[in-house]
Amino acid sequence: MKITDIEAIHLRIPDVEEIADGTQDVLVVRVHADNGLVGVGEVTSQSYVCKAIIDAPRSAERRHGLREILVGREIDDLQEMWQTMYYHTNRYGRRGAAIHAISGIDIALWDLKGKALNQPVCELMGGRQRENIRAYASYLFGDEPAGTAALAQEAVDLGLTAAKFGWNVFGQDPDVDVAHVQAARDVLGDERDLMVDVGCKWTADVALERAKLLQPLGIKWLEEPLSQDDLQGYKQLCAESPVPIAGGEGDVTRFDFERLIDCGLSYLQPDVAFCGGLTVCQQVSQMCAGTSTVCVPHCFSTGINLAASLHWMASVGGDLVEYCLRPSPLMRKLVSNLPPLKDGRVPVPTGPGLGITLDEEILQQFRVDYD
Ligand code: MG
Repeated sequence: MKITDIEAIHLRIPDVEEIADGTQDVLVVRVHADNGLVGVGEVTSQSYVCKAIIDAPRSAERRHGLREILVGREIDDLQEMWQTMYYHTNRYGRRGAAIHAISGIDIALWDLKGKALNQPVCELMGGRQRENIRAYASYLFGDEPAGTAALAQEAVDLGLTAAKFGWNVFGQDPDVDVAHVQAARDVLGDERDLMVDVGCKWTADVALERAKLLQPLGIKWLEEPLSQDDLQGYKQLCAESPVPIAGGEGDVTRFDFERLIDCGLSYLQPDVAFCGGLTVCQQVSQMCAGTSTVCVPHCFSTGINLAASLHWMASVGGDLVEYCLRPSPLMRKLVSNLPPLKDGRVPVPTGPGLGITLDEEILQQFRVDYD
């Protein structure tokens, strides 16, 4: 089975707001093979830039566009194919947008391989250890604690057993922070998990003070309290924090995650459509095996990302995935058989490959044509 073409299709809703919502603008990748099969992947990043990285023509050695690198190649060992993409984009890649673009192709190659072998991706990745995965929803904190409480009530009403709150007013004032987290905890009760996402606002010293303040409220994890580049701060904080520390949604390749493990993070949150794809997720899980570090997918874009995250978790026996509740049609409708939320859990698709089907009308309706 050889690659004959790669499409990078930019989808965007008409009004993209200045909020941390990855469901507004995505890049869908389709890899075509000479036997007629098509694999689907997604990139959650700067879609224009990542599309250019896929579409760019041949240049000098290790500076090619991804389509140029891959068309005509046999689809075989996906670890080797990842290495091929990484090596031949080396002069402008290694991190950042090149790895984000590789993520979309890597997911599509897993989907394609699964379709060719008539196997779900989780089986290819080592075997289906779970039929469904526990979900958590992410919310922005309300403007007032009552607003946060109302969102927590929505999570309870949806049957969720875990919810995460972050950003907005949080992080500026310790009293305000405690009031909001207390409001969420009061509604969620002790039996549900509560996570807090700081959004990279603090220094290690401030984070340690806040972790001590929030610890009595039973926080499952404190997410991205520091700048993603403050590795020394993470090392110091993880050693002393009474609350587990999470991070990694902005990191790429196994090399970044090796550093986070070394810092002592309790939870790693690779985003499969950003970090380098399922191949990198599999590597990160292998690095965590036998340690106390747990992988929980960051997943806030479309059903393609969700399906890939579910297969990854099913293959490693993980039992938590982020479940996006945003109303964007790119999240709700692009995948016509979007894995549903049921009793706080999400079924792992059972069909070949990722086990999902794209809605061609939605694809055509929201695609951005550049000429
Ligand atoms: Mg986050």
